[in-house]
Amino acid sequence: MIKNNHLPNIVLLGAPGSGKGTLAQQLVSKFHYQHLSTGDMFRETVKQNSPLAEKIKAIMARGELVHDDLVNQMIKTYIDRCIQNNTPFVLDGYPRTINQANYLKTICDIEVVIYLDINEELAIKRIIGRRSCPQCHSVYNIYFKKPKHDNMCDNCHTTLIQRPDDSIELAKNRFKVYHEQTYGLVDYYQKQKKLITIKIVDNNQHLLDQVSQIINQ
Ligand code: AMP
Repeated sequence: MIKNNHLPNIVLLGAPGSGKGTLAQQLVSKFHYQHLSTGDMFRETVKQNSPLAEKIKAIMARGELVHDDLVNQMIKTYIDRCIQNNTPFVLDGYPRTINQANYLKTICDIEVVIYLDINEELAIKRIIGRRSCPQCHSVYNIYFKKPKHDNMCDNCHTTLIQRPDDSIELAKNRFKVYHEQTYGLVDYYQKQKKLITIKIVDNNQHLLDQVSQIINQ
């Protein structure tokens, strides 16, 4: 049971296109959560000119997963900072393997895991329609959540971009990787009685309300 006024640290679990990033952003706006997205962190890393950046870029371009040790080391820095500042955080895209989940357990306390359960057809449509702001990381969708002006961020007016791994072929491969390496975490967290499943059926306008109730706010 979550105590009143206490914001729990959250893991968002779900296939690519299930809406983890959008929900995380809403939690930032409404409750001032810190949004920790390992995908966003890697997208920043690959902008650098280094052998490591090139290696990660190639992995991402194949829709595969970056090595656990590297991801664990990276996320620890961010989580430590949140703990030091007493800031609740929402993890989006991490953990993605049982190894990562076991590591996470050693560095912090996760009280709630929200599993966004979506079917592949809807997820693929959401992925290929996805556009994001390279400046403030707001996420839009040309089918479900259009920006006010074509291809322009509502918040900071930057031109929106499509992620290179949001093509249909790569989306399908990311789904395969998700089923092989990440889906087992549903059972992992279910056994720990931390899992709350939300079925994603359409554009889920009430998703934030549902999650607010779960965290008792
Ligand atoms: P995302 O934006 O969460 O879909 O992540 C984009 C890509 O970054 C993934 O397809 C992986 O290549 C990499 N990535 C992000 N998070 C992780 C993670 N926790 N473990 C391994 N690779 C990751």
